[in-house]
Amino acid sequence: VTFLQKLPKAELHAHLNGSIPLSLLQTLASEYLSQASHDSYSSLNESIKSSLTQLSQPGGPTLTEIYDFFNLFPAIYTITSTPDAVRRVTNAVLQIFLDGETPQCTYLELRTTPRASDSMTREAYLRVVLEVVESYPASQVGLIVSLDRKMAQEALEDCLAAVIKLRSEKRRIVGIDLCGYPTSGDLEMFRPYFAQAKKLGLGLTVHIAETTDNTAEDTRQLLSFNPDRLGHATFLNEEAISIVLEKKMCVEICLSSNLLCKTVSNLEFHHISQYLRSNHPIAICTDDILPFRTSLLGEYALLLAPAPYGLGLTEDQVRRVGELSLASSFRERAPGNH
Ligand code: 5GP
Repeated sequence: VTFLQKLPKAELHAHLNGSIPLSLLQTLASEYLSQASHDSYSSLNESIKSSLTQLSQPGGPTLTEIYDFFNLFPAIYTITSTPDAVRRVTNAVLQIFLDGETPQCTYLELRTTPRASDSMTREAYLRVVLEVVESYPASQVGLIVSLDRKMAQEALEDCLAAVIKLRSEKRRIVGIDLCGYPTSGDLEMFRPYFAQAKKLGLGLTVHIAETTDNTAEDTRQLLSFNPDRLGHATFLNEEAISIVLEKKMCVEICLSSNLLCKTVSNLEFHHISQYLRSNHPIAICTDDILPFRTSLLGEYALLLAPAPYGLGLTEDQVRRVGELSLASSFRERAPGNH
């Protein structure tokens, strides 16, 4: 473990609300459920209890397919919808990755989807997250603002307006992400917003080809936005792979996430192999440590472990992977750096 602990590396694909420590989630749920104003037998409360039971299983929730995963978030969102909860969650997640005796990484790029609630606008949500992010040096953390494929145009407008305002105040937003239910949404609607984000100097990363239901057209459209990095990229066709290789788009690789969501059946068949062979930029990432019960050190351990448990790479090869992750970060895009 010492080699992996010391290894310089960047975590570039970690979703805030998918990375909440279970104990904090349980505390937030019991606080929410004990509020006198809530009817304890409402269907909403029952769904919170059911999602919490699944998330609390010793090995994490059992997922039959990737789509099951997205059903866990409505409950998480209900109990993290106040500024106080968002602050506590962000603090806890940054501590896991960066503090203590075994920091997981040298640099963390945390991502989150701005959410409006009764007590917060999307801009206020981002301000709470940024306040915690900026309590660490810029060399250690940056924030990526996620846009959800399901967002309506008004929500997109609202997010972009907040990003523009916060960047003008030199707040530490370094990139934009496209995430959410893999087959939903009208991608063309996102084009002007991504173009605007690029003009602001932000990096762009998109979740792409995560499932076999993602069409070649979906992939082509996402690549036409000219992203700097790609999330998952599990089911790229030959045409897409040649674009990715030619443009040297970094692929964010989440091994445990892919195995547990059953989009990859075995590490032996994981698409990481083709990128390792061609020395293509990749970053090893956790995705969502809450449901996947992993850590960045755990993901790197999978690189070192011999087959069939891991990929059997040498320490030199793993060192190179760490370097590639740092080289692909959006750190330089923090305000004041360009
Ligand atoms: P948040 O953005 O609320 O901090 O983190 C949770 C959100 O990230 C989820 O609601 C979902 O939209 C997105 N997300 C987390 N993991 C994945 C993933 O593996 N694939 C996709 N497409 N979206 C994800």
